[in-house]
This record gives sequence, structure tokens and C-alpha cells, in this order.
Amino acid sequence: MADSKSAPRPLKPSTMMMGHGYDPALSEGSLKPPIFLTSTFAFENAAAGKRHFEGITGKRPGGADGLVYSRFNGPNQEILEDRLSIWDGAEDALCFSSGMTAICVLMLTYCSAGDVIIHSGPLYAATEGFVAKTLAKFGVSYIDFPAGASSEELDDVIARARAQAADQGGKLAMIYLESPGNPTNALVDIEAVSAARDAALGTDHACPIAIDNTFLGPLWQRPLDHGADIVVYSLTKYVGGHSDLVAGSVAGAKKWIDPVRMLRNTMGGIADPNTAWMLLRSLETVELRMSRAGENAARVCAFLKGHPKIERLGYLGMIDDARQQDIYDRHCTGAGSTFSVFIRGGEAECFRFLDALRIAKLAVSLGGTETLASHPASMTHLSVPDPRKVSLGISDNLVRISIGIEDADDLIADFEQALDAV
Ligand SMILES: *Cc1c(COP(=O)(O)O)cnc(C)c1O
Repeated sequence: MADSKSAPRPLKPSTMMMGHGYDPALSEGSLKPPIFLTSTFAFENAAAGKRHFEGITGKRPGGADGLVYSRFNGPNQEILEDRLSIWDGAEDALCFSSGMTAICVLMLTYCSAGDVIIHSGPLYAATEGFVAKTLAKFGVSYIDFPAGASSEELDDVIARARAQAADQGGKLAMIYLESPGNPTNALVDIEAVSAARDAALGTDHACPIAIDNTFLGPLWQRPLDHGADIVVYSLTKYVGGHSDLVAGSVAGAKKWIDPVRMLRNTMGGIADPNTAWMLLRSLETVELRMSRAGENAARVCAFLKGHPKIERLGYLGMIDDARQQDIYDRHCTGAGSTFSVFIRGGEAECFRFLDALRIAKLAVSLGGTETLASHPASMTHLSVPDPRKVSLGISDNLVRISIGIEDADDLIADFEQALDAV
């Protein structure tokens, strides 16, 4: 941490990604952190061992003050967590073996039998499934609201959730958001959600607002600045950024993160040392990669926009709804590089387009260095019932694209020839 202390002014996150939280003198002068492959850590003496366990078990507040056992913590993971906190302006962060592990452990931490969880829709399909099927087994129910909801709709959904919780002998346990929604790209007004929650519950409550920021974070949206309490990531996407690892994280104030850490200590699910090391490497370039991908997406969308074979685009840089534009202007600093293309026709036309692509690869996922394309209706969202598909706008002519960091002109030429083949 010497870098932040000796600096004459606060350093920017990109600068801090090179050294923050790591002291080479503790590792034989190794400029980069070694990968610490160990399952356990030697205590200096018995009293230190006792002190560490008092922290781990919660007998003493503040958590472990040293390294104990690799299901709880490790050097690579702790450096990663320090650096992840910086991007979101969070007090603390925790890394997990996948985005879904992070989400499941977070929800299990905050929800008890009888409780109600409010969530925006649509959510990542596995998250929706976890809420609707798994949490339901433990007596936790949910109410969802459409991503673009107004303040009045938010007040109403909170009132309904509290009434439902009272009926079930529980409480409103969490408001869980995902913004933008996939594949609609509908934005949630985090500031309005926070104002509605505070108006209903006051300041002394146990109902955090958590948000999955995978699509725009950490560069283009900082939810903690807009009233969210906990920010969630699939680090598999932009943060990892090279389509070569799976990991997740949560970040926020210590008071919200400490209980999650306790359950992670019990269940496991911490990212392994090798993955944590890979993520440290990824974080050094995350701003470069995301900036380039965002610029590429803007150029590709400018090309696609007027194309005769394209009906419309779902791209945050070209919003046609005034309320959504207002949310965007208040919350986002960039339009991202993942968007929807509605091709004139249906599945057959989309498949011809996808099969003709040469540079863009046909795969689900997003946020990698390479451009990916997929067909949600027949792939990621195949199991979504038809009426819900219609209400979410997941039509047969929708292609989902995540733009990478290739040369923009090469990408445009690839999309042009693929559209010719439609
Ligand atoms: C991929 C993804 C997840 C799940 O993350 P994994 O790392 O695959 O477990 C959750 N939310 C969003 C928005 C995602 O894109």
C-alpha cells in the first residue's frame, strides 16, 4: 500500500492495478506476486493462531487479521480483493469461484425463511432460477419488477413485498438488481430504487440493495455512487476479459460484506490462487480493454444502424426512450460493448448471419478480447417460456453481440459480408 500513502494526490484505479496491496519485499523481491499454492498457513505462535480463529469465527469483530487456511483467505485472493474494491470505491470485496457462487452465497447470507426478495427483471437466467426455485425451497419468496420501472412502480412493489413478508412472518430481505438487463439492455434507475427503499424503511434497516454490474462494470457504471450497497460481478466477463477463467465477486461497505465472508468461510467458494493471479494480470489492462471494446462497439453500431437488413439495435449508445436516456445520463459513463441486433426476418435469417461470420465467434458469454455472437432465443434463453420471451423482447430475430478489441474496420467488414449472406 506504499503507493497510495506516498502519493501526493489520490491515484487513479489504473495506476493502482500495478502494485496496490502487494509488497515485493515479502516475496523475495519478486516484482509480481507469486502464486501461493498452499492449503494452510503457519502461525507465528499459538496465541496468534487463537487470535486468527477469533476473527474467522466472529468472536472478535473485524475478521481474520492474518492468513489461516485457504478456504478462508490467501495472499493472491487478498490482493485481488483490495484491487477490486478500488474500482467500485468499496470498503471491502470478496472473490468467488464463479459469478453464480458469489450471487448464491450473497442471497443465502441475507435471506431467511419467510423473507421476500425484490428483484428487477430480467435477471441472468441462473440467478432467476436460484431465486425462484432454490430460495423457494427454504421459504423465501420474491416479487419482480421490470427494469425500467418508475418511482411510483418502485414504491408499489416495495409496499407489496413488505405486506407479503408480514404475511409470511418474514421481512423484506434484499433488493436485487441487474442493469442493464440481458438481452433487453433496459436500465434500472438505481437512484430511484435507493430513494424508494429509504422512504419505506428509513436509515436503520437490514435490506441491502445489491446489483449485478457485470455488463457495465467496473468502467462504465459505479453503482455504489448511486445508492446501491453491494455490487456483484461475474469476473468471467469484462474483468477477466480473455475468456479463459471463471470467477465472481461482491463488494461494498464492510458491514454488508462481513456476513457474506462468514458464509463463504463456511461454504467455501473462494476463487483459487491461480485464478486470482490471472485476474490480477487482467486488472492491469481492464481499462485499456474496455475502452477499446467500447470504441469498437460505437463504430460497429454506427455501421449497423442504417443497414437495410437491420430492423433496429438495442445499444446503450443509441437509446430512443427519454426515461431510459435520463437513467443512462445519470448512471453510466459509457455504452459498453454488448448489444442486441434485430435482423429483418427470424431465426433462419439470424442463423445465416451467424454462420457467415468469420472473425466474430459463435459463443455465449461476453466481455472478452474477441468478438462473440449468439442467438438468445435458441441458446441462452431457450428454456424461457414463450409468453415471458415476448414480454422480455427476446424475439427470434435477435442476435446478441459482444464486441472485442480487434481492429474496428475488420469487424465492420466481417459484419458487412455476413449481412450480405442473410
Ligand atoms: C455470466 C453472468 C453471470 C454468472 O457468472 P459466472 O461467472 O458464469 O458464474 C451472472 N450475471 C451476469 C450478468 C452474467 O453475464
